[in-house]
Amino acid sequence: MTKVSKIWARQILDSRGWPTVEAVCQLDTGHVAVASVPGGTSTGAYEAVEVRDNDSSHFHGKGVLKAVASVNDVLGPGLWGYDVTDQAKIDARLNELDGTKNKSKYGANAILAVSVACLKAASLAASQPLYRWVNGLAARIGLNAQIKVPSPLLNMINGGLHGAGNLDFQEFHLIPASSKAFSEALRCGVEVYMTLGEDLKRRGAIHSVGDEGGYAPNLFTNADALEVLYEAIRATNYQIGRDVFLGLDVAASVFYKNGEYTIRDKSAPLRDNDLLEYYKYINSQYHLALLEDPFHEDAWDSWKSLFTSFEGQLTVVGDDLLATNSERVAQAIREKACNGILVKPNQAGTVSETLSVVKMARDANWKVITSHRSGETNDWFIADFAVGIGSDYVKFGAPARGERVVKYNRLLSIEAELAMGPR
Ligand code: PEP
Ligand code: MG
Repeated sequence: MTKVSKIWARQILDSRGWPTVEAVCQLDTGHVAVASVPGGTSTGAYEAVEVRDNDSSHFHGKGVLKAVASVNDVLGPGLWGYDVTDQAKIDARLNELDGTKNKSKYGANAILAVSVACLKAASLAASQPLYRWVNGLAARIGLNAQIKVPSPLLNMINGGLHGAGNLDFQEFHLIPASSKAFSEALRCGVEVYMTLGEDLKRRGAIHSVGDEGGYAPNLFTNADALEVLYEAIRATNYQIGRDVFLGLDVAASVFYKNGEYTIRDKSAPLRDNDLLEYYKYINSQYHLALLEDPFHEDAWDSWKSLFTSFEGQLTVVGDDLLATNSERVAQAIREKACNGILVKPNQAGTVSETLSVVKMARDANWKVITSHRSGETNDWFIADFAVGIGSDYVKFGAPARGERVVKYNRLLSIEAELAMGPR
């Protein structure tokens, strides 16, 4: 048995400049592992709660000193002497200490940092790469996943809350064909990204990059963003529908108000049915392979109609709808609301709960997409996690900005390691 000897935390910054939690787990073997947690901007209402200080004199109220103190004073001491290889027991203990359903007492930011630090420490003590250790934990709950490097789903254009305020849809994705090896798919993503950048510059439309490294251009409509992406691909040697596909994370909750969706493509606000018709039009023009959060997170009937309309044509992905939450996923399976899940460990709050949700999604034959948050750190844990659970895709942003690239680079390193075979 390898025991936890000490756990502590500190406040660091995420890629947006806001504070976040970094935790350290030390074992009786002397192994030490560090984990830091990301934060969302377009957060779903059903996510586990992130505790912030709300002290306006400190980081505009966004400090996490309370969460750090919870690790140092309660969560860490509460795990002393625990067997670090028993992740299920560690996570159950964290939940027991918190005692709330949504982790609102100590915060999912404090709890996940500890959960992941323990996971990493256990893999070190077992002398296993993190992705292999995750794969073993998944198998313990009957999630038998093939270790493989997933396809990247690259966020080329940032809008919504991640952009410069001039596009309503949040993410415009390039999806290289899943038949490509990861390194080839990444190269394709980079080549299209660079071509798109040149193209936007030529149009005078470039603004800057958004939170996730995609361009945040000055365009008139959301459809224009798809058009410039389409044209940039056509300027490369890649063929749409064969080598690459397009996807959208609409993040519709953000522009939904009082029963209506307001987008710049239309002069009047849209009801759910009108928006569904607009998606049908967009799909007829751009042949989407994936559509995430097309309606707000409580519009179950609209999700069901959309899923029925597009069944067999594209993957309908729940992010805010599901919030990596087992009850929400069970409802979506029952009601046939979607067939893909965005897996964000910090929405669930522990490694074990995230694994259980992935198992549910797999049992329902859904596509699994492991995702970053808009506020990231340089922790590449989710790259290993994605490989270990046999994720179909990873959504790690554009191939730009260090906190995104570090995860893609980790996948390159795993790809090379797997190609070398057992040593
Ligand atoms: C998303 O909505 O898929 C996303 C990654 O954004 P955020 O982290 O802001 O929720
Ligand atoms: Mg999303």
